[in-house]
Amino acid sequence: MAKILFINPVVREEDVPRHIPYGIALLAAIAMKKGHLVQVYDANAHRLPIETIIEVCQADDWDAVCIGGLTTTYNYIKKACKLIKESAPNAQLIAGGGFLTSMPHEIFEWIPEIDVGCIGESFETFPEVLAKIDNKDFNYADVLGVIHRDLTGKSFLTNVRPNIKDLDTLPWPAWELFPLDIYFANSANLFSEESFTSKRRMDINGSFGCGLTCKYCWHLGTTGDMLVEENEHGDNDVVFTYGRNIRYHSADYIVSMVKHLHDKYDIDFAAFIDENLMTMDVASKGTWLKDLCNKWIEAGLQPTCRQKGIPHDENCKGVHWNGTSHAGLHRPETLKLMFEAGCTHLVYGLESFDPTVLRNLGKGSNARKNKQSIATCLASGIKPIPNIIIGFPEESFESVRNTIEALVELGITAKPHFATAYPGSEWYYAYKDSIMEQYDNDLEAYIMDLGDASKITATISHEFSPMQLLGLQQIVYLKDLRLLDLSEKHWAPVQHELSPMIQPKLSFNLKTVKEAGPLAS
Ligand code: SF4
Repeated sequence: MAKILFINPVVREEDVPRHIPYGIALLAAIAMKKGHLVQVYDANAHRLPIETIIEVCQADDWDAVCIGGLTTTYNYIKKACKLIKESAPNAQLIAGGGFLTSMPHEIFEWIPEIDVGCIGESFETFPEVLAKIDNKDFNYADVLGVIHRDLTGKSFLTNVRPNIKDLDTLPWPAWELFPLDIYFANSANLFSEESFTSKRRMDINGSFGCGLTCKYCWHLGTTGDMLVEENEHGDNDVVFTYGRNIRYHSADYIVSMVKHLHDKYDIDFAAFIDENLMTMDVASKGTWLKDLCNKWIEAGLQPTCRQKGIPHDENCKGVHWNGTSHAGLHRPETLKLMFEAGCTHLVYGLESFDPTVLRNLGKGSNARKNKQSIATCLASGIKPIPNIIIGFPEESFESVRNTIEALVELGITAKPHFATAYPGSEWYYAYKDSIMEQYDNDLEAYIMDLGDASKITATISHEFSPMQLLGLQQIVYLKDLRLLDLSEKHWAPVQHELSPMIQPKLSFNLKTVKEAGPLAS
């Protein structure tokens, strides 16, 4: 059996480590189930100098070293791969996750040390790659869902790996491999009283993907949204679509997992990292969340404060939880039951209150529903956490005004994020050329610059420059309509003389059709 080392890269260096990497923990569990020997070096939790990787790689005779994450971990992964290859030259270096799936050929060019990469969903692909390594067979051409290279370094993508059908066949993540105390020490967050006083929070995942098509969002094969097709050079490449394979865990799977976490690790808070709980609930015709809440309560996980209808305090037992919601898809009776079962807050990606922006966004909401959602959620007892964005392609003084007026009406103060075209999103493929122009044709420099959208990287606003967007962010934060009017007045006489900052274009990697990738039978 293979000896495998997982390295969890540093993510959001400016913040403390808050999330046990769910995907890595799940793949580690799958590998262990197959009998492989697995170790984890959690660089994100330990925050040691990156050179520590050398020691870790030399600590054993690894058959494979595995690394992966979202695009925002690219900087760390690139440096880490160099150190891994130098210090464990005989180990196969396996990569996976969003940073690779969104742009496999580019990543293989930029990080020549990677031997093989898992594209899209890896639950079946990864163990197949490990089995090959175990047999010292390093020809991956017959494994679905991988990118590999020949002796010259040229990269090849095999055909798409079907999504697994039944998520409940997955084992629980191997949490025991991670330094849990570091994560528990950072359990608290400011979203609700219960989450702020949490001492032992862990993430859980109930579903993969989302049925909607927000243009800034990416699913990277987790929803059946990915195909592999031949590009104009005759090479296989990834193509993202509006196709969907909707999949969620049963309530029994989720509740027994949380019960286990409560009994074994004494968790007091479970954070659902699902892309959107409400879209899954809609796919289940409104039964999934109700079933989940009822079983949560039956399993004795309902917090004392909700059971007795008393304020939350330090004596509260049970497990509180949070997740993501949707302004047009939440139902008052479901929210009420969620509150009773212990839900404390729900993140609402409202993004904007402008009709044009929302119509083009693919979110399936509108300004009226966005406004109503706050009161509907509050009425259930759950706290809504709204997200606001500025810098949409069609952003205008009018759209910003609509957003500020709604924020004033609702009494919300929000520092908006900047519209950012992350690889894998529709925006990225539509505006890739404009993005490259903004980075002197150095796409890798753009990828290295990406963070959590709290700073401007490449703009995709047709009308506003980075300077204007920075000012508009402050104006929205201050809800200062006077400053907005003054800015518009100053700008109006020259606005029509300026050519658009950017232009969208068609891309091979994006097909706006509902063509889903295969689902395993
Ligand atoms: S609703 Fe959320 S998860 Fe779904 S596509 Fe939009 S941003 Fe992505």
